[in-house]
Amino acid sequence: MTTVALVTGGSRGIGAAIAARLSSAGYIVVVASRSGDAPSGVEVAGSIAMDVSDPESIESGLAQVAEQFGAIGILVANAGVTRDTLLMRMSDDDIDEVLATNLAGSIRLARGVLRGMVRAKSGRIVFLSSVVGMLGSAGQVNYAASKAGLIGATRSLAREVGSRAITVNVVAPGFVDTDMTAALDDDRRTEILAAIPAGRYAAPDEVAAAVEFLVGPHAGYITGAVLPVDGGLGMGH
Ligand code: NAP
Repeated sequence: MTTVALVTGGSRGIGAAIAARLSSAGYIVVVASRSGDAPSGVEVAGSIAMDVSDPESIESGLAQVAEQFGAIGILVANAGVTRDTLLMRMSDDDIDEVLATNLAGSIRLARGVLRGMVRAKSGRIVFLSSVVGMLGSAGQVNYAASKAGLIGATRSLAREVGSRAITVNVVAPGFVDTDMTAALDDDRRTEILAAIPAGRYAAPDEVAAAVEFLVGPHAGYITGAVLPVDGGLGMGH
């Protein structure tokens, strides 16, 4: 049996690496992003345009996937954005967009796939959080709140659907080499590197490997967990 896996934010960065791994593992992978681009160099079954900060776009995107590929068995809610600045300077838009995309969007996506998973009596949901959701980070009040919120959402949903053989987990990366961290200035990069016990950033594939494990057949008894992939930065948080 082949399982349909939806990876949001799968057009580049960590999402593209997740799409590549799940595709190689034999899942039917559909990626979603605002651009609707397929990840370059990765074979996926489909790529759709979906803005996860927009409830209607989520609804129509999920309907499109169900119609073209069938019920979604794996959701990897990976799409995320940053709008970093100190809170005193943070605009309403900075707050709203980050929370709508990272937190509300992920929750709505999970709600949208649940009915099919309950019917199938199986399912895997993985949310991409971040080490900063637990550590905090100056200049990221909006982002850290959205990522911490995903942990509460995960643990609550894991309790709701545990008996239906649906698992809900979080992967919490540290600093990963993607477009998101390319935006950091050199001083900040040096400061971050000094704090990471592993002494380096992660490659996107190292995060993807953790996701592949959690959605796979050997992780059926793991739910409500937060799996850090952070080179020791959060020391197991
Ligand atoms: P990235 O390179 O900036 O890629 C973000 C992806 O999300 C893109 O595919 C983007 O495509 C999509 N996206 C953004 N806003 C969207 C929206 N409203 N609707 C649908 N898709 C949207 O980011 P990344 O570094 O791979 O990060 C992936 C996830 O890991 C994020 O949740 C991030 O917070 C988390 N994370 C990253 C790091 C890191 O160091 N990089 C660390 C911890 C956690 P479009 O622009 O076309 O929409």
